[in-house]
Order: sequence, then structure tokens, then C-alpha cells
Amino acid sequence: MDRDYEAALSTVKGLVASFRNNLPLARKLASKIRSLALDVEKKYGGDFKYRIMDFCGTHEWTITHFGIRSLMPPNIELVAGPGCPVCVTPSYFIEEVVKLALDGVVVYTYGDVYRLRSIRAVRGASSLSDARALGGSVRIVTSILDAITSARDVGRDAVFVGIGFETVAPGYAHAVDRGLVPNNLKILSLVKLTPPAMLYSIEALREKTAAEPPVMGVIAPGHVSTIVGGRAWAPVAERFGIPVVVSGFEPIDVLISIAEILRQLSRGEARTIIEYARMVTWDGDQRAQGLIASIFETVDDAWRGIGFIPKSGLRLRDRYGRYDAFKEYDIRDLTPESWRYDLPPGCRCGEVIIGRIKPTQCPLFMRGCTPSTPIGPCMVSMEGTCSIWARLGVGGLAEEIAKELELL
Ligand code: SF4
Repeated sequence: MDRDYEAALSTVKGLVASFRNNLPLARKLASKIRSLALDVEKKYGGDFKYRIMDFCGTHEWTITHFGIRSLMPPNIELVAGPGCPVCVTPSYFIEEVVKLALDGVVVYTYGDVYRLRSIRAVRGASSLSDARALGGSVRIVTSILDAITSARDVGRDAVFVGIGFETVAPGYAHAVDRGLVPNNLKILSLVKLTPPAMLYSIEALREKTAAEPPVMGVIAPGHVSTIVGGRAWAPVAERFGIPVVVSGFEPIDVLISIAEILRQLSRGEARTIIEYARMVTWDGDQRAQGLIASIFETVDDAWRGIGFIPKSGLRLRDRYGRYDAFKEYDIRDLTPESWRYDLPPGCRCGEVIIGRIKPTQCPLFMRGCTPSTPIGPCMVSMEGTCSIWARLGVGGLAEEIAKELELL
């Protein structure tokens, strides 16, 4: 192993190790957050809660799993954003791939997409899991490379369901660019871009009545930022005049990010800061960005339960049409005219996704919609807010959920 690389790796490992299980540091940060929250209240008033949006499902997992909400002072509320690609994939595309599976095409998909339910059944199947039970060929993979390897062996017509955010796009682009994709495998690119969704969510929350607090700060996704760079979030800070901190995923990372947001608020600042500096740079991975831009074009895209967000999706460029499942199987892309509200009756995922309500405010939460019997998309994926709250409601959150369900 290259010596410089080895040294860098051990530094990173050391840093992460010091972030884990570091209770003294966590206590100090919790106390710092409490005192900064008082400063913020003095500056802006104490009539409402200050909302900080954690955009990413993995951050929501860290916050919920480690009970970080229970460390927050009463005037600080952490709300989850739309950072779960499975949750926001329109029902229409699930129906299209179910159709392909039932028609004998081998469908490769990630595990959480396998259980994702559509609102309309196709020949009795409302998910890829149903399609497999009815004899369709559905295989679970963990990457496009798995799909490529399997498709080469299988030799039959096959489709890879390319769901994800900016983190998966370089892998898909690399496979196309290097000609790794066999002729029998097509890619259904459903990649979504996160900065436009963050702008949309904060805008939507700002349209609320004056009685409800706006989002006053954002914890931006660290892994996406390894690709897009810290600069991708600067428009959020500039447009809304709020601090944005690109954060890592250890509990200490998240606490530092919250403290930084409050520190900026107390000083009247609104800057984009990278806390996850051990992985993220201001410019991001420019090689990956160039590769993505050469293989994909950016399109206005539909988000489940929300509708169209401008410039928020990636589709293969025309010159790569021979890899494109849209073209091969004549799948029409959604348009603002053809998109229909696509959540099941009673499901409030569209509001959960943009932080407008908490999962416990959905009447179906744990009353019919559970991780083992999901009704809406936010209860399916490991990164879905409802699923995280249902599975990991620990510490203060467990009590909060119990109260809202009138169990306490
Ligand atoms: S609890 Fe279930 S039905 Fe309710 S918003 Fe969440 S996913 Fe939708």
C-alpha cells in the first residue's frame, strides 16, 4: 500500500475512532448546544422552535439511533428531509419494472426497492416482491457491477433499476463509459439530485403560516458531498440566509454540526461549512462530476408524493441510448402533465419527506403501517424516516412516540 495513503487512512481511522463512544466530548457538545440555543433565543426571540433540517436518511438514522433529539434544548427541533431515494421514486416506475419482470425480463434491484409498493397493481403484483412470487424474475443486487456480472451469465434480457442519489451516479457512469454493460442489460436511470430537493423542501416549509417556524439551518449530506462538494449547498445558505453544515455520520459529527449552526445563528451568519472535512472538499470529486455530466443529462424529475422538482434527475444521454431501458422497453418518462399524486390513501409520506410533519402525525404510523407491513414508501427503506422512527425510536424519541400514540 502507498505510504502516504496508508498514513492518511490511519489518520482518518483515528479520527473516526475518537468520534465513536466519546462520551465526554458528547456531553461537552450537548452543553455547548444548550448555551448556544439560549443565545439564539435572545437574538431572535423565544416564541417558536428553531428547526434544523437533517436532509439525509443516514443522518436521521444517527440522530434517532443515538437519541440525539433527547439532547436538544426545548427550543431546537430536528426535522428530517427528503434524503431517501427509495421513498421518492414514483409509483409509476415500480409499476413499469413489475410489468417487465412479469413479461420475463430479469429485473435487478436493490433490496429495499424489492419491497416498495406501487399504488396500482400490475396483473396482481404491487411490488417486485409480488412479481417474483407470481413467477417474475427479480434478483437483488448491491451494485450495478453485481447486475453486470449476473446479466453476463444469465444471457437473457435484463434491466437494472438505477435508483439512488449522486453517490451512485459515478458507478453507473463508469460502467457505461468503460463499456462494461453487456448488450442484454439495460439501465433504468432514476437517479435523483439532492441540492434541488433541499431548496424545494425549505421553500415549501417557508410557505407555511407565520405561526410555524421556518427551517433555520441545514445538516447537509456528507456522502453526497464527497461527489458534489460543499459548494453545491452554498445556494441554500445564500437563498434562505441560513447556515448549512456538511456533516459526517458519527453522533459527534452531528452534534458538532448542530453546534456550528447555532453558533452561526447566534452571530447572525449564514455560511456553508464543511464539518466532514476528512472526506469532503469544497469542489468535490471533479473527475466524478465530469464523468456524470458526460454520460447523463439533467432533467426535471418527479418525486413521489411531491411532484416535479426542476433539474433534479439524471437520464442517460441520447448517445448512450443502447444502454437505456426507457428506449429499449418504450417506457415513457413522467411529465408534469402525466404525473399523478402517488401515495396510498391516508399515507402522509409527502409531508414527512419535506419535514412538514413527523411520522407520528400520520394516523397510520404503527397502526397498520409498520416495518414488516409497510403501507407507504417511507416505511420501507432503511433510510425512510417512518421506518427509522418505527425501528429505532430510542431515548427521548421512544417517549415522544408513546405520548403521541396516547400510550403514556
Ligand atoms: S407511517 Fe406509513 S403511511 Fe404514514 S406517512 Fe409513514 S409510510 Fe406513509
